[in-house]
Amino acid sequence: MAKHQIIDKARGEGRTVMTEIESKELLRQAGIRVIDTRLALSKEEASSISKQFGFPVVLKIASPDIVHKSDAGGVKLGLKTTKQVGKAYDDILLTVRQRHPQAMIQGVSVQKMARPGVEVIIGMSKDAQFGPVLMFGLGGILVEVLKDVSFRIVPLTKRDAGEMIREIKGYPLLEGYRGQEPVDVSNLEELLLKVSDFVEQNPEVKELDLNPIFAYSDGAVAVDARLILEDVGG
Ligand code: ADP
Ligand code: MG
Repeated sequence: MAKHQIIDKARGEGRTVMTEIESKELLRQAGIRVIDTRLALSKEEASSISKQFGFPVVLKIASPDIVHKSDAGGVKLGLKTTKQVGKAYDDILLTVRQRHPQAMIQGVSVQKMARPGVEVIIGMSKDAQFGPVLMFGLGGILVEVLKDVSFRIVPLTKRDAGEMIREIKGYPLLEGYRGQEPVDVSNLEELLLKVSDFVEQNPEVKELDLNPIFAYSDGAVAVDARLILEDVGG
């Protein structure tokens, strides 16, 4: 689907929250690497998509009403067989429907399981004074507990991107730590610049969250994305 179709569909449903699949598709079209992800409407479809991708895969609830998928019991990682995929599909729908009976559920997203990397996040929010601001940080508890993040105003310069990455306290983790592969930092800089371009070119985007991105020695891939549109217009 083309960008305007994806956005019009959400608008037509009176939504500003894009699902993970919709958000990833918009980012992918902007040249931002995301893990291959497709929507399944049945257990059988989830299995056949899994076989096409190759195991292991990840299943997640696809609902604009569920913002924190793991908290809702809506994420199953490392599924290795069609049997595990089928069970995960049922478990996810059962748990999410129990916990969120009002949620509109589109289906279940099937995606490739990314190999382990260093988890980083990129976010965008709009400041009343400065307009769009990008955030960079390490994923997981480092960002949640320690708030170890950096900010720059959009549009980013190449220099901004380099500084954003290097000024977080956890930067040494990106250079390789206890046998962990060092991350390709120049690739992360390019990624920040691509996200900055995307934000500039899409003023109807109000908020953006790539959380997490798996960073490697040879690139990076976003495994989760959330995009929120401005309330009016577009
Ligand atoms: P939430 O809505 O809870 O943020 P996520 O999609 O971020 O859900 O999934 C939760 C966690 O599961 C992520 O932080 C990441 O560690 C892991 N994860 C999610 N998708 C994948 C994937 N495709 N491959 C590997 N790990 C993943
Ligand atoms: Mg996430």
